[in-house]
Amino acid sequence: MSTLNDFHVHSSESDGLLSPHELIDAAVESGVSVVALCDHDTTAGTARFTEYGKSRGINALPGIELSAEWKGGNCHFVGLSVSDDYQPLELILEKTRKSRGGRNDLILKKLSSLGMDISATQLRDEAGGEVVARPHIARVMLNAGYVDSFQEAFDKYLSSDGPAYVDRFRLAPKEAVKILRDAGAFVAIAHPRQLALKDSDLFNFLAELKTVGLQGIEVYSPNTDDRQIALYKNIAAELGLTQTGGSDFHAPGQSGRGLGHYRESTPIPPLTIPELGV
Ligand SMILES: [Zn+2]
Ligand SMILES: [Zn+2]
Repeated sequence: MSTLNDFHVHSSESDGLLSPHELIDAAVESGVSVVALCDHDTTAGTARFTEYGKSRGINALPGIELSAEWKGGNCHFVGLSVSDDYQPLELILEKTRKSRGGRNDLILKKLSSLGMDISATQLRDEAGGEVVARPHIARVMLNAGYVDSFQEAFDKYLSSDGPAYVDRFRLAPKEAVKILRDAGAFVAIAHPRQLALKDSDLFNFLAELKTVGLQGIEVYSPNTDDRQIALYKNIAAELGLTQTGGSDFHAPGQSGRGLGHYRESTPIPPLTIPELGV
């Protein structure tokens, strides 16, 4: 049987659809033998995830995805093998979630002024878990018929230059790397494409982050082309960063994001992360 690996997936504890248990079942079914749960801003699902993974005979790693301050794109980090009871990190995460909550209320107000009425209850019901984020708002907008697709909700209203966008609390990139390291995590830059940097600027940025503890780079992630993959491999080699990869899986049927895959039918190649013993 083929074995796949996937170092970046989301559960219903953040903006994914499947519970940590359902994710494990889906991973087993897809032939994934190493999988890391990286919910946004919460470690709430990691204990259940790793325990149930063990009982199903796969290597399930506790992880997290943390967003840092960034203009003109996204700066996200995955922290793998992160502790779920390191108080300084938990305090930051709580602050981040609270800031998301206040932000969601403001987004709903803006949408209402644009003629789209969504209640806080509708939003909570859609989210279900600890983290309530823009993808949940997008799904409610879609279900209510305000937009024709999930993507349209972002493109027209919710993206950083959209009329319903509201900013929220985030750490500076270096601070994000440091706190994840302090929480015992192996830290990699997630989907570097989303930083929207020129090649040379990307190299310099990652070199700088390496000085505060960055260890890895997601070479394989959705919507990354072959030229970018080659570039990320080169950067990994030059800076001594470990190559990782993840599907950034949020829900079954999401195009190009099958568990263990970074493209529709292209598996993430077998990766070794010596820092994690996998
Ligand atoms: Zn991300
Ligand atoms: Zn993600």
